[in-house]
Amino acid sequence: MRLDFYHTGTATEEVFSLDRAVVEPLPWPGNPRHAVDDSNLGKYLFEVKDKQTARVLYSRGFASVYGEWETTDEAKTLRRTFQESLRFPAPDAPVQVVLKKRDKQNRFQEVWTTSLDPSDIFIDRSTPKAPAPLIEIQKNGDPSTKVDFLIIGDGYTAAEAAKFEKDARRMTEVLFSTSPFKERRRDFNVWALCPPAAESGVSRPSTGVHRDSPLGATYDAFGSERYVLTFDNHALRRAAEFAPYEFVEILVNNRTYGGGGIHNLYSTVAVDNAWADYVFVHEFGHHFAGLADEYYTSSVSYAPSAERTEPWEPNVTALLDPSALKWKDLVAAGTPVPTPWGKEAFEAYSNGIQQRRRQIRAERKPEEVMEALFREELQHEQAMFKQEKYAGRVGAFEGANYEARGFYRPEVDCIMFTRTNHFCAVCRRAIERVIDMYTR
Ligand SMILES: [Zn+2]
Repeated sequence: MRLDFYHTGTATEEVFSLDRAVVEPLPWPGNPRHAVDDSNLGKYLFEVKDKQTARVLYSRGFASVYGEWETTDEAKTLRRTFQESLRFPAPDAPVQVVLKKRDKQNRFQEVWTTSLDPSDIFIDRSTPKAPAPLIEIQKNGDPSTKVDFLIIGDGYTAAEAAKFEKDARRMTEVLFSTSPFKERRRDFNVWALCPPAAESGVSRPSTGVHRDSPLGATYDAFGSERYVLTFDNHALRRAAEFAPYEFVEILVNNRTYGGGGIHNLYSTVAVDNAWADYVFVHEFGHHFAGLADEYYTSSVSYAPSAERTEPWEPNVTALLDPSALKWKDLVAAGTPVPTPWGKEAFEAYSNGIQQRRRQIRAERKPEEVMEALFREELQHEQAMFKQEKYAGRVGAFEGANYEARGFYRPEVDCIMFTRTNHFCAVCRRAIERVIDMYTR
């Protein structure tokens, strides 16, 4: 069952309104032993409750495009609407769907509720035609006991269908060469699907490129040139429903560096960039396990929040009470918290790189120039980190979550911090917990 709705508002008010209920064409792919979400991930949480007994039949935490947009400057002056969907097993009897959002103390509070009667004649039970054949990349078992991961293409023409399949297989190998996905490969089914586009590539408004691509993916989301999202949830759902899926990666058929990832919604990557492997795994970390960005020196669209509350994301902390550090069981004895590191030297170097990065984009230099800058940056960073006394150990290193002060990350380095190729121990554990939820 899929409940489509509209999420409208500004930085300070939000309104939800029902669009439609749809029965998707494939059987529910979820794990019946883990219908209730105990991960505590996501800015939002929805619950499906039996109307008679109020028992929670299904719940899932998630984040949304709206949830990010409401923290941008645009939301202070403009009211906008975003489409969203909630997917859950089709109920046998009337249910109450309750949507909750975290308050300032990060507790979930109800913001919307609607009832759903499965005998309602207006539930759409039509059987639409698939936009493209479903490709089985790897199938390790029944969808109900596996993580079902869909790789979906945007900006590929019909003539580029073979390229899409090759790209999807390449990205699959990248994911499963990274721990802990590597060790848990057999817990995943991977599917691929690519609705054909009329033209190659997706929109990039900052360079005057506009494309009517099937999924509507676009660069420049919230004015950030590298941020690739689709705002067309309906188009995405209408294509994705032809695969058993819990997680979705949108491959955009472009060379220019970019991507994005939202917890339990989707992640994106520009597949032809030299850094596509890194972007794919990093953004998938956001999407799959609700990981926060550990970086803080590159520009983002979000306005900093005035107060410091403990973030819900598992890999960053405000360290309000160091004795209650949420990953303290992974901190080795003798490691000071907060943990000293060469922060000033890192920031001085990083600021220089960010300046050159902006200049390369302003001058519209070829993409190889940007790719080379990132290679130079990573090499330099890795040489710096090698000198760190606490490299490779878990502690609490200041600088994370877009803030130089007041937020801390678990290790000196992680793929959520730099363009390295591995997750830190805290991120790895967070990912494993989500894999367990879909398989155990
Ligand atoms: Zn990490």
